[in-house]
Amino acid sequence: MTETARRIEIEEPIAFIDLQAQRRRLGERIDEAMARVLAHGQFIMGPEVRELEDRLGAFCGAKHAIACASGTDALLLALMAEGIGPGDAVFVPAFAFVATAEMAALAGATPVFVDVLPDTFNMDPESLDAAIGVAEGLGLRPRAVIPVDLFGQPADYGRIGAIADKHGLTVVADAAQSFGAALNGRRVGTLGAYTATSFFPAKPLGCYGDGGAVFTDDDEKAEILRSLRVHGKGLEKYDNVRVGLNSRLDTLQAAILIEKLTILEDEIEARNVVARRYTAALADIVKVPKVIDGVRSVWAQYTIQIDDGDRARARLKAAGVPTAVYYPKPLHQQTAYEDFPVAAGGLAVSERLSRSVLSLPMHPYLEKATQNCVVTAVREAVLG
Ligand SMILES: *Cc1c(COP(=O)(O)O)cnc(C)c1O
Repeated sequence: MTETARRIEIEEPIAFIDLQAQRRRLGERIDEAMARVLAHGQFIMGPEVRELEDRLGAFCGAKHAIACASGTDALLLALMAEGIGPGDAVFVPAFAFVATAEMAALAGATPVFVDVLPDTFNMDPESLDAAIGVAEGLGLRPRAVIPVDLFGQPADYGRIGAIADKHGLTVVADAAQSFGAALNGRRVGTLGAYTATSFFPAKPLGCYGDGGAVFTDDDEKAEILRSLRVHGKGLEKYDNVRVGLNSRLDTLQAAILIEKLTILEDEIEARNVVARRYTAALADIVKVPKVIDGVRSVWAQYTIQIDDGDRARARLKAAGVPTAVYYPKPLHQQTAYEDFPVAAGGLAVSERLSRSVLSLPMHPYLEKATQNCVVTAVREAVLG
């Protein structure tokens, strides 16, 4: 047993994400907020939903925030509001969570896979350009691009936006991992025509179940989104003007999120402190994540790259350090997606990253002493 393992064994196990620490910090506030909802009993579209939407919009600077049932639904709602469907190409990164490509396919469009950059994990603008050519060659209409802000860092919306403008693509930002982040002083929520985020418990702003939201500055699209999330309703409840879905955020979850939003800024700062410590302590032995100029990341994950990831991961586990691999298989190699088109030039970076990424424990309450144990264990696992 290594020195680190021995130290860890006598103390508390290290958490990959410690949600209980946040609960202790918020104390009674969430219980009281939930009790208020139980007392008024408006479980569906109660007053807390609108209050949360107003606060989310004010926080990120978006004109409209439309709460919904999950981050996955938020993506689908944006594509539906834009009328995307059969014959349309939607450009998505190959190295990401499945929901992005999945919702493009579910909307009836064709997801076209784009490669990512090796140091930020986010969509490669040159590969996007190459993918648009492929889609046109197949007779598809290029309609939308969904950059994913992987691990909490906004994608390069400057360069992606320029390509999107040139080809008339709508930018739908998948900000499931990046709510609270900023690019050149602008918060995530305003970087695309639509921004979809998730309140899954482990995301930087998470609730106690499933939840999500769509942001837009467009008044007309905001109305359509509000209609789509309640069965395509018109002015009256039993007036159905379009095909929609049931995708409301529960009032209870909204009440929880109102409390959590008050400490998000502070938590983002704490995550940045943790990330800086990792980078200072590990940059000499592994490839550490790069943050592009003008970005403030929310560090949903701190992800390093190691050649022999499996071996390092096993050694870390033996030392009591939990890690995760996001994502072990690129989407274009998944059974359900292997027949969809890919960018000209291939997806070599996505394929390589899926074999070398390793995410370390990351949350705002990771104490310095605990983090030192993680760092020591990583150094032993890589060098030993
Ligand atoms: C979590 C996540 C989603 C889906 O969010 P859910 O709320 O779980 O539906 C979509 N995209 C990315 C990049 C995610 O990380």
